[in-house]
Amino acid sequence: MGDIEKETPSQDLFQFQPEVDSAAPDSPHQFRPEMNDFTILSVDDDEMFQNSLRLSLSGFSYRGIAPRILVASSANEAAKLLLETPSTAVLLLDIVMETDDAGLRLVRTIREVLGNSQLRIVLLTGQPGIAPMQSSLETYDISDYWLKTDLTNERLHSILTANLRTFEQIDVLNRARRGLQSIVEASNSLAKSSGFEDFSRRMIHELASLLGVSEDGIVCVRGRDQEQPPKIIGSAGRFASVLNQTLDTINDESVRDLIQHALDEQANMETAMAQVLFFPGQAVAPPAAAYIATNRRIDDTERELLRVFATNIGTGLVNVALTSQLDRIAYEDGLLEIANGNALKRGVQAALEIPPPRRRKVLFIELNQYARSCVSLGVEQGDRLLRAFAKRLAAAFPPPCMIARLHEDIFAVLGPEYLVRIEYVNRLEAGAHSPEALFFGAEAASLDLNHFTSAQTVIATGLLLLKKAGLKGTSGQLVEYDPNVEEETRRRYALSQQLYKAVLNREISVVFQPQIDLTDNRIVGAEILARWTRPDGSTIFPADFIPLAEANGLIVPLGQQILEQACSALRSMDEAGFPAVTLAVNVSPVQLGRQEFIDELIATTRRYGLSPDRLELEITETVAMDEHQHANDVLSTLRRKGFAIAIDDFGTGYSSLTKLRSFEAAMLKIDGSFIAGLGESIQNEMIVEMIIRLGERMNMRVLAEGVETEQQAEWLQSRGCMLAQGYLYAPPESFEQFLARLRNSPAKTA
Ligand code: C2E
Ligand code: CA
Ligand code: CA
Repeated sequence: MGDIEKETPSQDLFQFQPEVDSAAPDSPHQFRPEMNDFTILSVDDDEMFQNSLRLSLSGFSYRGIAPRILVASSANEAAKLLLETPSTAVLLLDIVMETDDAGLRLVRTIREVLGNSQLRIVLLTGQPGIAPMQSSLETYDISDYWLKTDLTNERLHSILTANLRTFEQIDVLNRARRGLQSIVEASNSLAKSSGFEDFSRRMIHELASLLGVSEDGIVCVRGRDQEQPPKIIGSAGRFASVLNQTLDTINDESVRDLIQHALDEQANMETAMAQVLFFPGQAVAPPAAAYIATNRRIDDTERELLRVFATNIGTGLVNVALTSQLDRIAYEDGLLEIANGNALKRGVQAALEIPPPRRRKVLFIELNQYARSCVSLGVEQGDRLLRAFAKRLAAAFPPPCMIARLHEDIFAVLGPEYLVRIEYVNRLEAGAHSPEALFFGAEAASLDLNHFTSAQTVIATGLLLLKKAGLKGTSGQLVEYDPNVEEETRRRYALSQQLYKAVLNREISVVFQPQIDLTDNRIVGAEILARWTRPDGSTIFPADFIPLAEANGLIVPLGQQILEQACSALRSMDEAGFPAVTLAVNVSPVQLGRQEFIDELIATTRRYGLSPDRLELEITETVAMDEHQHANDVLSTLRRKGFAIAIDDFGTGYSSLTKLRSFEAAMLKIDGSFIAGLGESIQNEMIVEMIIRLGERMNMRVLAEGVETEQQAEWLQSRGCMLAQGYLYAPPESFEQFLARLRNSPAKTA
């Protein structure tokens, strides 16, 4: 065959490159870096020829690289070697070996069985008569066909060079195709992501698998204002721990600088060790940079593919930003840029989906100086305080804890129980060295998610517990959720429903407990106490239902009913001939807080034709000493209108002398607990004595409650306390019994 003829088929094959098989032997999801070595396999059973071939190849190099030479002396052996070294570039194959067509059979195996379409095949024959059919050359993509005798050194070299170049081109094409395919897959994967964090994680994964490198990567976004350091929204591999931190927390300076540089220059960055892709972002999407450690230089094909991929990522980022913008509106607190109530609910819901034991807790925390701070220093200072507090929270409860602001000054922390410990709330206070607040005082309630099934209940219960903690009076209360308490709450709820009916049906009655003048044992009045007798005859005491009535507002109609019963009793006493006996009615702070209270009270006494001084209004010390102006105004108005005021449970609260003086209460009622302690505790006795002296000084009558023994009565009398109430004289009793007692009273007949 002449040179020209021989060249022609090879030229043709060059131009009409058949489809390259995509089922590459190595991972379809990555492409190899640029070829830096290559293998030539020579298959011949003629040892002499092999030797001279090797000699000729020893002087050959392609792009400065000497080939690796493999040698086989049979088709079988060659097939085995090709299996082991699938990246072999060129095969120099003798047609005639064991059999006349052993070479061609090997070609068929390579293309059809091994599925290797990239290998360049050069057929050689020793005998001019044996030529393969033109059709086999085309079918099996055989590049060259040569007579061994025509193979000069120079020719062999040019054949190899041409074939290696072809091999390389096919390789690039293959890789590009695989790469594009990967990009499509990668983009599909990105499209499934559910937010920045997820998107970033997938992005690192896809970049790493595109480049065939390990997943050491970081995705960083610019903060909303230039002053904030860029934030890491995705990280993997050796950078996994910096997730959600700022860029400056990365230890590796070169990594940090490279990312910062990309963001500053708004351009991709490349080094021998890493790639940084820059994404300019849009109105909704912040500029972002994706760093991936390659630990090698990437080649042109890879660079090209990265560019294509980056365009897809850019679009993806904008989409994710759009959705997370919506997400942010729905799930982020506008002021503090942390999670809001919705986000907490979502988080709790997800935690509740874990089967128990869940080992998750939620902490509800109320910053108790917020309102005061707003009122005295302005709303802006309040906001600054909240910001400082949120920062403090983030430090005390690190990721994976979620920190959310529910409203105003109420925060919640959701996380694993080993991190979300209620005692850590104390750390919020210590060392809060910020100009906004040197100390943070906070109430907190902790809930174990094992006791719950719905996020809604978790949040409602948490807020309720916080309220309870706040009601305890002293600040800094920490309470832990207790399922038994929950049971108790349910019981109370059921009771409050019954109470509602009872009040509506006027089933709450009153009893009367006489008040005695110790000097002559005369009855001077009585305190009216509420009693709830249920249809089954059982009695419920006020300690169990008054707080319920106060909680649901029933105390207002109930208080009115009791007042009317008192007025009606006073009328009956007038008619029975005891117009000097007074009746004391307990007034709840809820009643006192209503604007209408005084008018209603006056209207009621008028309706019964009673002068106001027949009624004594018992108000507890805590309420009477309340700082609020309203309470003060109400009390002084009541006094001006002629009602007598008794300060109940005196000694249990904190009274201010100035206040007490301005008050001009008619009576101090010493709390029963002090009377019970008489003769037992010197301190008790001192307190009682002090109250008695106080009454004398301020010109108030002093009455001792809960007097049960003669000794107590004598002690009191000897110290100058002249009024008493208690089981020693009479238990609370029905009006008939009380009236009978008045009639039999020695003082009355005397
Ligand atoms: P309080 O005003 O301090 O009433 C005195 C309580 O001491 C009454 O309990 C009375 O039965 C009890 N008591 C009387 N003598 C003795 C005694 O010698 N020893 C002992 N250990 N206890 C004695 P009660 O009736 O269960 O009332 C409890 C509380 O419920 C009252 O305390 C009062 O704060 C509230 N309350 C009762 N009735 C009403 C009402 O009509 N309206 C409002 N707002 N509160 C009421
Ligand atoms: Ca009372
Ligand atoms: Ca009392």
